[in-house]
Amino acid sequence: MTDKKVYQCPECGLHYEDGKTANKCEAWCSKYKSCNLEIIKDSVESSQQKTESKGSA
Ligand SMILES: [Zn+2]
Repeated sequence: MTDKKVYQCPECGLHYEDGKTANKCEAWCSKYKSCNLEIIKDSVESSQQKTESKGSA
């Protein structure tokens, strides 16, 4: 089962595995016209980036 159910925020286009978080994101995005880092860190895109975000320390 690779077809994971995700929810998309129609405002910013990010995807969430949790519909509640997607709703939070949509509410925030439509209200503030910007993204809340605390919310988008839970997005599918954000968790995918984690594996690659190695700083050149
Ligand atoms: Zn959003």
